[in-house]
Amino acid sequence: MHESPHTVTQKAPALFIGHGSPMNAIEDTPSSRGWRDIAARFAKPRAIVCISAHWVTEGVRVTSNERPRTIHDFGGFPPELFAVQYPAPGDPALAHDLAGRLSAFVATLDDRWGLDHGAWSILTHMYPQADIPVLQLSLDARRTPQQHYAIGKALAPLRDEGVLIVGSGNIVHNLRAFFHRRAEDSTAQDGIFDDDIAAAAVSRDHDFILSYRAHPLAPNAAPDWDHFYPLFYVLGASASGEVAHVFNRALCPGLSMTSIAFGLT
Ligand code: ZN
Repeated sequence: MHESPHTVTQKAPALFIGHGSPMNAIEDTPSSRGWRDIAARFAKPRAIVCISAHWVTEGVRVTSNERPRTIHDFGGFPPELFAVQYPAPGDPALAHDLAGRLSAFVATLDDRWGLDHGAWSILTHMYPQADIPVLQLSLDARRTPQQHYAIGKALAPLRDEGVLIVGSGNIVHNLRAFFHRRAEDSTAQDGIFDDDIAAAAVSRDHDFILSYRAHPLAPNAAPDWDHFYPLFYVLGASASGEVAHVFNRALCPGLSMTSIAFGLT
């Protein structure tokens, strides 16, 4: 049997990306370089499903737009950041397919959202040509960590069809500390929390990560669930036996850029 290389679909990775400040979208930083470099390590996916910290809903939603708009969901940044457009196409057929796969979670299609900066600030470095279809999957605020993880598991088969799974958040995310409004600098403790979560990802101790709130340093390091939960999807979508590649390990007050890739070849 001869198969044309054009019909071979390579299994796509599952990536958790620490996105940090929206400024990373337009700046050449160690983190933005890390995003570009990681994309160079695997075959171009046929589509991307992104779970961003910045799309929290009641109920599970999947973007179904043909041409998703670029959403500038932040304030107080320079005009050049608001001028950024990431004109990647959507994929209504894949959105329909995905909603079907997630019917147990009552997923519905959504054509009002588009791409928020949790998605485009990263993808503009990974795929600057914006030629790969991107869908977003929302974070259902009503669900438990275990349920978010179960949704991640349901995404795993998509990887075999060349669909890249990207969870975009931050393991350490405390904006009070980031803007130096915290009484004392807890960066060293945040680093311990970050280390513990990364180590658990490597050893596949998913229960430890799902119950991260029990970690004594979590209240300071990870008070914002929306930035932590995208990690659950990536862990759920990872396969046993896949090595966790930890990268972009930068830490500043209130923020870690730590990112974790599964399924690099
Ligand atoms: Zn964010």
